[in-house]
Amino acid sequence: MRYLQATIKLPEIAKDALSSRLMELGFLGSIDLDEQLIAYFEEPADRAAIDRVLGEVRAAFRQAMPDIVITATYELIPGQDWNSTWKAGFRPLDIGERFTILPPWEEKKPGKINIIIDPGMAFGTGHHETTRSCLQLMEKHARPAMREARFLDLGTGTGLLAIAACLLGYRHITAVDNDPEAIEAARRNLKLNAAVDIDLIGGDISKLSGSFDLIAANLISGVLVTLAPSLASRLAPSGRAILSGILLEQEEEVVHAMSETGLSLRERLVDGKWVSLVVAPVKP
Ligand code: SAH
Repeated sequence: MRYLQATIKLPEIAKDALSSRLMELGFLGSIDLDEQLIAYFEEPADRAAIDRVLGEVRAAFRQAMPDIVITATYELIPGQDWNSTWKAGFRPLDIGERFTILPPWEEKKPGKINIIIDPGMAFGTGHHETTRSCLQLMEKHARPAMREARFLDLGTGTGLLAIAACLLGYRHITAVDNDPEAIEAARRNLKLNAAVDIDLIGGDISKLSGSFDLIAANLISGVLVTLAPSLASRLAPSGRAILSGILLEQEEEVVHAMSETGLSLRERLVDGKWVSLVVAPVKP
């Protein structure tokens, strides 16, 4: 997969407004530099839509700042480069009380639940705040009865959360992703961790049937909002869903979308500018 890198020059004051608009276009993330945002999009990206958003943000600030300049230059990044940069920085990482995430070329740590991840082209090495929070909440919500429970990793990426569920003791695990490259990476990682019984499905939530006792969904806010009704319909009456990938300023809209479908907020975990939420069906 290739990426589009947009180097956007703009005043500091306009950054938040721009970031939230880019979020609506589904950008993957950004690097925040002095008077610059370097934003990444999956190719094929809609440059005209990005330019339009830049124009709208410029217009919104023009009254207060008549001389405001917002410009962007674009560059295509081959997936391979992105990947090797990522790999070079991948060191073993302890998360929560019990987990260690490590690449295949590092030694396992004794006394830990070691999760081996070869990221390939997929997201999820545990180094991102959102994955880290999911793992912490999964550890916290692990119960002795979970062998019978059904776990769903919605948007599995590298497969990391599904593997963590398996190593925590879940026996009925489904992992879904709509990106074929993620499915390929997840398949490789399930093997590396001998987590072969996981039901790995290419596609989206519409491919699933039945209900789940714990759902982990580390997606972006816009996707969580859209998926709220189908997510609610896949959750068992006494189930819980861990929602992640939510920027603090987007928390309210996610909580609202969930409550519209009968899911109420039970817990939140903040890490940096990200928040993860635990929601559960409101008892009748
Ligand atoms: N669960 C991993 C990866 C999260 S990245 C972790 O916590 O680190 C989010 C993943 O969700 C990506 O791999 C992306 O391809 C997938 N995804 C995004 N929208 C989706 C959708 N509607 N249905 C299924 N998968 C989706």
